[in-house]
Amino acid sequence: MRRMAIGVLGLSFLSSVGLLVAGQARPEGGDGSKVDATIRGLIKAVDPERMSKNIFYLAKDPLPYRKLNLTLPGHAKNTLYEADDYLTGKLEAAGYHVEREGVQVQAFRRDTTKPKNAQYSPPKPEDPWYTAYNLYVEKKGRSHPDKIIVVCAHKDSQSWIDSPGANDNGIGTVGALEIACVLARYSPECTIRFLWCNEEHTPWTSKTAAQKAKERGDNIVAVFNTDGIGVKTAAETAAGKKTNVSAYTKPEGKRLAELMAEVNTRYAIGLEQRMVERTRPGDDDGSFVLAGYPAAIINIGSWPYGDPEYHSEGDVPERTDVKNAALTVQATLAAVVTLDQGL
Ligand SMILES: [Zn+2]
Repeated sequence: MRRMAIGVLGLSFLSSVGLLVAGQARPEGGDGSKVDATIRGLIKAVDPERMSKNIFYLAKDPLPYRKLNLTLPGHAKNTLYEADDYLTGKLEAAGYHVEREGVQVQAFRRDTTKPKNAQYSPPKPEDPWYTAYNLYVEKKGRSHPDKIIVVCAHKDSQSWIDSPGANDNGIGTVGALEIACVLARYSPECTIRFLWCNEEHTPWTSKTAAQKAKERGDNIVAVFNTDGIGVKTAAETAAGKKTNVSAYTKPEGKRLAELMAEVNTRYAIGLEQRMVERTRPGDDDGSFVLAGYPAAIINIGSWPYGDPEYHSEGDVPERTDVKNAALTVQATLAAVVTLDQGL
C-alpha cells in the first residue's frame, strides 16, 4: 500500500451507481434468520491455518518475494509470476476459472536518501517494462448479475527493495483468497468479483482494472480492499488487540464502513472496529473511487499504519497476526453476503 498522497486526478466523479443502505440491507423476518444462519456458517468456514500456510508460501518459502524484477536462481519465472501461479492453482482447486489481464508496468527505483518506508522513486523511461497481471475470479449472481461486489487485494511485494511484504500485502492477498475459497460453494444473488492486483510496481494495475470496468459500464456497487489486515503497532500486537479500520473516501463508502461495524457486532466477531474518512482517494480502493465508483473502502489493521517494518526487509510472515486477519476476513465476508442478500 501507499500511505503517501497520490496525485488527485480529474475530479468530475460520476454519480453513484446504486445506493447501499446498510440498515436496510437484510431482509426482515424468516428470510433474515435464514440469511443469518448462512452467514454464521460461512464465518465458521474461515480457516486461519490455511491462511497461515498461504502467507508463508507467498512471503517466505518457497517464494521470499513477489516482484517482477526478481527471479530465483534456477527458476523459469519471476517471483510475482510464481505467486500468480500459486493463487491460480488454489482458485482453480476451489472451482473458479481465473482470468488474467496484462498491464505494462515498471519497477520503482530506490532512493536511499529518503526515509526507509518511502524509498520508492520513479523509474526512468529506459528501465525495463514488464507485463503484470490482474487476476480475476467471479461468481455470477443469479438474481442481479449486473450488480457487482468487488473484493480486491494487491498481491505484489515491494519492487524497489527486497522485502517479503508479508503485512503489505501478503496478508490481504491470502485474506481475499480465503473469502473466495469460503464463498466457492455459495450461490450469490449479485455478482461477486475478486481481483488480485499489483500496487508496488508502477503504474498500479488496480487503475486499469477500475478504468476498464467503467469503460465497460460495469455496475460496481461495493469495493472491499483488503490491505494490511490485522497490522498494527508492536504495542497493540503485544497487548493482543484485534483491530480493523474501515477507511472510506465518499459517503457511499462510509455506508460500507458502517456495515463493517454492524456485522462485527451482529455476528460477535470480536474486532475492535472503527472507521476513518480518508482525506483523498488512496490505495487500490482509491483507484475505484477515481474511476467513478465511490462505494469503496480499505480494511486495514491500523490508521495511521502502525507497522514498524513497513516497506522494509523485516516485513516477514512471522510478524503477521493471522488470527486478527482471519477476524477481518470473517467481517468482510459477512458484509459482502449481507449486501448480496439485500441488494
Ligand atoms: Zn506498500
